[in-house]
Amino acid sequence: MNDFMTSRYTDFVDDLETIVNQDSSSGNAKGIAEVARFFERRFTAIGMTCEIIYAGQAGVPCLKAETRPGQTPYDLMCLGHMDTVFPEGEVEKRPFSTDGTKGYGPGVCDMKGGLLVALYTMEALHHQGILDKLSVCVTFNGDEETGSNASRELIEACARQSRRVLVFEPCRPGYNMVLRRKGGGWFHVKAKGKAAHAGADPEKGINAVVELAHQITRIHTLNDSEKGTSAQVTVMHGGDKVNIIPETAVAAVDVRFSKSEEAKTVESFFKELTRTPYLPGAELEVSGRIDRPPMECSPEAELLFQQIRDCGKIIGMDAEGISTGGCSDGNFTSAQGTPTIDGMGIVGANAHRDDEYVELESIIPMVTLVADLCKSFIDSSAGDTGS
Ligand SMILES: [Zn+2]
Repeated sequence: MNDFMTSRYTDFVDDLETIVNQDSSSGNAKGIAEVARFFERRFTAIGMTCEIIYAGQAGVPCLKAETRPGQTPYDLMCLGHMDTVFPEGEVEKRPFSTDGTKGYGPGVCDMKGGLLVALYTMEALHHQGILDKLSVCVTFNGDEETGSNASRELIEACARQSRRVLVFEPCRPGYNMVLRRKGGGWFHVKAKGKAAHAGADPEKGINAVVELAHQITRIHTLNDSEKGTSAQVTVMHGGDKVNIIPETAVAAVDVRFSKSEEAKTVESFFKELTRTPYLPGAELEVSGRIDRPPMECSPEAELLFQQIRDCGKIIGMDAEGISTGGCSDGNFTSAQGTPTIDGMGIVGANAHRDDEYVELESIIPMVTLVADLCKSFIDSSAGDTGS
């Protein structure tokens, strides 16, 4: 496997240049569709059945490619996103570049490099004549960076039909894969009071800023680092003129949590908040919701990671598992009860920044790792089902 990948290293870097040099910010349907077509051509060439699905009302281009169409449960779901956070024109400003060690360019690590790991893995299995021995569903969406609103249903449906999921977000430096991600959501709290002259008629007013300030200290009590829950008020506005008691004040809250049961605690907290204003006559409104469940590491996911580690050891890779507060589509697949391991792309860092990079020396090991892992799935399913 290693030899095959070594011979294809230059192709991989050339392909990386091709797809990084295609602007594909979330919302740029034309650009995302171009990336989808690139992969459609390649997956089709190795005999996979492809479909470009335009998801949701927005018609977000997503790609689904299967080795054995409709043969579920899939042994493996390979998940990735084709959109980036960078606006149209970014490629022109800073196209793909490399210094021989690292690769740079918009979305190179988050996550165009990872998409290629999935493709090259399938090509490696095809080269060995064993691709059709595994039922694989590759799902690449086009709106992950804006919350996967249009593609979430598709992703969850594929996950429910799959035995396991690998997400090809970047692997962290040192071959750290992602085992756990926090869930989360955003809430907006609006306090409504009554305006009055601050000097002449203070008793006629209800100060929305004072109301909100009290609520903010209550919200802050949700923070519990032991449980892995955070609730941070990140934005607040209130008042307009120095001599007027403010009528309204608003705050935005970023909530994250590690355990799925915490979602209920948080949601009921915000419901309760509106019922208990601090100042007589003040009113509170809350909008927002928890929109991502946490990616927890089930015993089955733990086992899958152990398989990854074992395959890594054979090629001299010391893979480790980490937790992160950031969300990915792995949150959705893991909440469907399907063992999910994330961070299976090439090693990289600084996502969403213009100094984003990938480590080119991780290309061969990562493709070799995932291909070897797939072979171990084939071997084990031949052992236990005989089919
Ligand atoms: Zn990403």
